[in-house]
Amino acid sequence: MTNDITTIAVLTIGDELINGEMADTNTAVIAGALGARGYLLRESLTVGDEETDIAEALRNLSGRRDVVIVTGGLGPTADDLTARAAARAFGRPLVLNEEALTMIRDHFRNRGRKMTVGDEKQALLPQEATILSNPEGTAPGFLLRHQRGCLFFLPGVPREMTAMLEASVLPRLLSHSRGTPGQERVLKIFGISEPKIEEILTAASLPDGVRLAFGVDFPLVHAKFRASGETAGALLDRAELEARKVLGDAVVACGRETLAENVVRLFVAAGRTLSLAESCTGGLIAKLLTDVPGASAFFERGAVTYANSAKQEWLGVSDSILRELGAVSEDCALAMARGMRDAAGTDLALAVTGIAGPGGGTEEKPVGTVYLALATPGGVTARRFRFSGTRESVRLMAAHAGLDWLRRHLSALQEGIAQV
Ligand code: ATP
Ligand code: MG
Repeated sequence: MTNDITTIAVLTIGDELINGEMADTNTAVIAGALGARGYLLRESLTVGDEETDIAEALRNLSGRRDVVIVTGGLGPTADDLTARAAARAFGRPLVLNEEALTMIRDHFRNRGRKMTVGDEKQALLPQEATILSNPEGTAPGFLLRHQRGCLFFLPGVPREMTAMLEASVLPRLLSHSRGTPGQERVLKIFGISEPKIEEILTAASLPDGVRLAFGVDFPLVHAKFRASGETAGALLDRAELEARKVLGDAVVACGRETLAENVVRLFVAAGRTLSLAESCTGGLIAKLLTDVPGASAFFERGAVTYANSAKQEWLGVSDSILRELGAVSEDCALAMARGMRDAAGTDLALAVTGIAGPGGGTEEKPVGTVYLALATPGGVTARRFRFSGTRESVRLMAAHAGLDWLRRHLSALQEGIAQV
């Protein structure tokens, strides 16, 4: 199976996935891991914990795809039916797999726990199953070969599934591919709409052999460049260079890196410190930054100053600003950033105040009006934004605009364009 002809499907199993109790994240994780290695998922299907439905799905998918990756239903409980359904689908008896049994016993012994009959059931697998070890849990996975290719059976628990995908599935897929797998490069773009980005990139001179696709991780747009063959890496280097030339500063991250990770990296490199004063984002900027390990190296504190009294007491915003101009005003944002920088003693302080909606808008300041201010050793500047959409999207846009401002400021410092 070369990369070009390998067709891959995912089958996720579980009542909780079809009754809306739980979102199927496994498919997205698998698709992402495959995409990063140049494989495209052709099909995905979800079925409930019904043995005949699972068996039929296995037969159908394996009849038209080379590889089927199955998740869920390998555990010890009565609703874990995947191994039985696989045995039924391919007319193989269920047998006690000694290798699987030893693995399960070892798992319990190493943790000093006692095995139950249900736990042993996890070693009942279709004949001629190849065992895939599960470093994170009890139920081993397994591999079945069929005429077209093979099926990988993985546990449903996302952590276990992901570990086994990386350790057992992807290496096997890669070693079976005769062709050079395709490659993908992702540029994450903020502040330009998807159709506009497409227009810009279509007009640019991307090298022949590079295909373009788009995805949205709101509020970022992902431009995905794909190429295959021996020269894929070089083609993607050229495509990235060209895309950065035409998109300029709107490219906020590349590959797996997030905007927040990029900001953290720039702060650490610059040796600058940061504090935040947030109103309409309610701590979202602090959350996004502290999601990244290592944020403690530069992030000193953040305050959610939601009420006017909080802006006055904690940040020293004057009564007259609040009364005459309002909390959502350029002067208030400037005062918040200045007050936070003074209080925290950090190099930089970022402030955000705005109207996230759905209520609270006026003709002069409609919903989506947001002011950001950045205090630096060189002074304080503010910017007005007008975002659209729901409360959630206004808050996300405001938080990303704040992170993006920090990114631009620190990049300018790094390039020697800005001094402070
Ligand atoms: P276990 O040994 O834990 O029973 P299992 O292989 O039998 O593992 P399931 O019982 O199907 O797995 O699922 C276990 C849990 O994993 C589910 O309750 C659910 O929380 C989560 N899970 C299963 N499938 C998915 C999926 N596709 N996406 C996200 N979470 C999932
Ligand atoms: Mg289970």
